[in-house]
Amino acid sequence: MPELPEVETTVRGLERILRGRRIERIEARRADLRRALPVGLGQRLTGARVTGLRRRAKYGLIDTDRGDTLVFHLGMSGRWRVDPTEIEKHDHFILETDEGRRVALNDPRRFGSLDLVRTNEMKDWAPFAALGPEPLDLDPRELKKRLAGRSAAIKLLLLDQRIVAGLGNIYVCEALYRAGIHPRRAGGSISTERLKRLVPAIHDVIEEAIEAGGSTLRDFAAPDGELGYFSKAFAVYDREGLPCGCGGKVKRIVQGGRSTYYCPQCQR
Ligand SMILES: [Zn+2]
Repeated sequence: MPELPEVETTVRGLERILRGRRIERIEARRADLRRALPVGLGQRLTGARVTGLRRRAKYGLIDTDRGDTLVFHLGMSGRWRVDPTEIEKHDHFILETDEGRRVALNDPRRFGSLDLVRTNEMKDWAPFAALGPEPLDLDPRELKKRLAGRSAAIKLLLLDQRIVAGLGNIYVCEALYRAGIHPRRAGGSISTERLKRLVPAIHDVIEEAIEAGGSTLRDFAAPDGELGYFSKAFAVYDREGLPCGCGGKVKRIVQGGRSTYYCPQCQR
């Protein structure tokens, strides 16, 4: 499943093809993905110029000079194919630039989405309205404030999009390990000292994953649903029963219906 680093890598890859280009043609090969495609998509995008690309949480944003932003989500299995020689069955949306380059949104399971939002109304768009700060913008004081009084497990709180946006299971497990924090610890009980280790750990894990994604990116194409190169660097994720550097063994527990991996010796 594409996580924040994969989405960031995707946005950077698409940026090289789309930024500053005029959209010559689009083709919607279905009327819906997870939900219906926006009405008037073709009319509003054709002829528009792409002014920039951004990411918010796990959404990619393509801004145009008409004040519209095309927002994509890759869902469970989505990826953009770049300059495909042949259009495949699961290429649901195709965008062609004035340079004749093509990108195709391929999504076999169709949990992804495409929306067209007015750029200046983006902050209030329903999926964005309640989102917490980006992980890379987070600082210990801000996190302390957001965790104050919360008795839920830190692992679950970090996965809550209202506290931090777009942080996935893998990255939360790895960051807690690096910070030496037990995943079941009550969020509100973690000292500022320890949050000062946790926040840089979150930044590092995300940045390393983005870099790893970038280095394995071929023809700027994006995630293939695999974790790719970064998986080799996991210290605890998906390593149940395997040794930790401390001599202990990685343990797996289930929290909120999802696996948590941690080292009982290193994380308190
Ligand atoms: Zn350990």
